Amino acid sequence: MATLTLDNVRKSFGATDVIHGVDIDVKDGEFIVIVGPSGCGKSTLLRMVAGLEGITSGEIRIDEKRVNEAEPMERNIAMVFQNYALYPHMSVFDNMAYGLKIAKTPKDEIAARVASAAKLLQLEPYLQRKPRELSGGQRQRVAMGRAIVRKPAVFLFDEPLSNLDAKLRVQMRLEIKQLQRELGVTSLYVTHDQVEAMTLADRMIVMNAGVADQIGAPLEVYENPQTEFVAGFIGSPA
Ligand code: ADP
Ligand code: MG
Repeated sequence: MATLTLDNVRKSFGATDVIHGVDIDVKDGEFIVIVGPSGCGKSTLLRMVAGLEGITSGEIRIDEKRVNEAEPMERNIAMVFQNYALYPHMSVFDNMAYGLKIAKTPKDEIAARVASAAKLLQLEPYLQRKPRELSGGQRQRVAMGRAIVRKPAVFLFDEPLSNLDAKLRVQMRLEIKQLQRELGVTSLYVTHDQVEAMTLADRMIVMNAGVADQIGAPLEVYENPQTEFVAGFIGSPA
């Protein structure tokens, strides 16, 4: 378990400023959703937290420890992406075990962690299947399982449901909510879908062109938008 702090984080690509000084304070076990339109900088922000992208200025801290210079593997973070990036030639078990093998986790420990995640995600019957033999929702669960087995301090999600059809998206939303209740891992979740954000978030951040326009509990943001952008974005149909 951990806290995650972004302190005046900025990002430029060459002369283009993409993130204009963002402050975020994720409490231990809190689920924060960043919502905003395509291109507003959500993925860039997550990639900086994960260490996949350098930051131009500011500071990122995990448990109050500065991680600006830390390699991705040192940050104790797991990220779930929009395209699940499963290994097609590996079984579900091996997909989930892969990161642990790389980290030289003992075999029996790997087996125990994968079994526990598979149970949690209702993937027990599918452990020997290949990703192509699974439904979209099952693949999404494998991607979640791969993150869970690493027991990260912080979870990052980048639009993990946006490749699913509408019905499955609603179902997986509920499953993620349930999982969050059971695991209580500090999480930063990115989506362009305001309904998804309202459903999942302890607090939500509405992002507009590289600026965090408003941070608050979903109902608070919904009932009391602080900018015209927030009012328009939250009020518009999904
Ligand atoms: P979102 O995830 O909210 O759709 P992104 O973080 O992907 O937004 O992108 C934010 C902005 O940064 C976009 O204008 C995008 O073109 C730009 N951008 C993202 N990555 C790069 C990069 N590697 N080089 C230059 N510009 C980039
Ligand atoms: Mg994105």
